[in-house]
Amino acid sequence: MNRFIKVLPVYTVSFGLLLALVGHSAQAQDTEEEIIITSTHVAGNIYMLQGYGGNIGASIGEDGIVLIDDQFAKVAEKITTALDSLGGGKLRFVLNTHWHGDHTGGNEIFGKTATIVAHENVRKRLTVEQKQFERVIPAKAKEGWPVITFSSSLSIHFNGEEIEVIHFPHGHTDGDAVIFFPESNVIHTGDIMFSGMFPFVDLDHGGDVALLTVDVEKLIEMAPEGVKIIPGHGPLSTIDELKLYLTMLKETSATIQAGIDSGKTIEEIQAAGLDEKWSSWNWSFITTEKWIATVHRSLTQ
Ligand SMILES: [Zn+2]
Repeated sequence: MNRFIKVLPVYTVSFGLLLALVGHSAQAQDTEEEIIITSTHVAGNIYMLQGYGGNIGASIGEDGIVLIDDQFAKVAEKITTALDSLGGGKLRFVLNTHWHGDHTGGNEIFGKTATIVAHENVRKRLTVEQKQFERVIPAKAKEGWPVITFSSSLSIHFNGEEIEVIHFPHGHTDGDAVIFFPESNVIHTGDIMFSGMFPFVDLDHGGDVALLTVDVEKLIEMAPEGVKIIPGHGPLSTIDELKLYLTMLKETSATIQAGIDSGKTIEEIQAAGLDEKWSSWNWSFITTEKWIATVHRSLTQ
């Protein structure tokens, strides 16, 4: 099922992500009318909502709604409309997969009535000012703070399944959580996975390319057969896409490490580029050149 809540153009993940990295959504003001929120039935009780920022997961059923990430405040009303059209119910919990603004931007609105749950490092980051690319990201208002935090994992017993929220250390940030829906057989990876595109790895806030690779290996081991995967960015995916993502991480890291080992400068490694088969993973925000720079910095810092 794929419903269009509001019809209009043309947002790529790059725009949402760029806004997240800018740290606020002011740029959205003149275009928010044009944002569409689409919803896709994934499996069981679980839906994926896409629009503006990171992919949202939603468990919708007799106990109400658990939301995984909440994009931006500007689209909170549209997210609510989308949830209503899927059967609605009371929004009880919002789980943040990590602190970035394109996954937590709706917290201050949804947190007025729902309980926000996140890894303890997400709360640490959202309650005080952060800096990203020389930009200052202000602390969230108290309504947007996680109320329940965890260090390694927690469970929410909801809509007929034990939703498991598990910390994956130092992959994309220092506070990443992956959400498992065992009965529905769905995983929301947060930004541990960008499907079919080079990922943003937040080296300034605890991310690390080698440890991200370890996280993805662990996730593949844990993934049940036939699981549907909601990535942080990109289309609804399967284990095959997650395995391909792991191959990309390993092979491109090996290429860049080989360049470092042979004494090449970063400019020389960028000029040599990556294997042609990864060219389609280049996108507006994380170009091949930027991906090489990220891996290079992560491997050498
Ligand atoms: Zn992120």
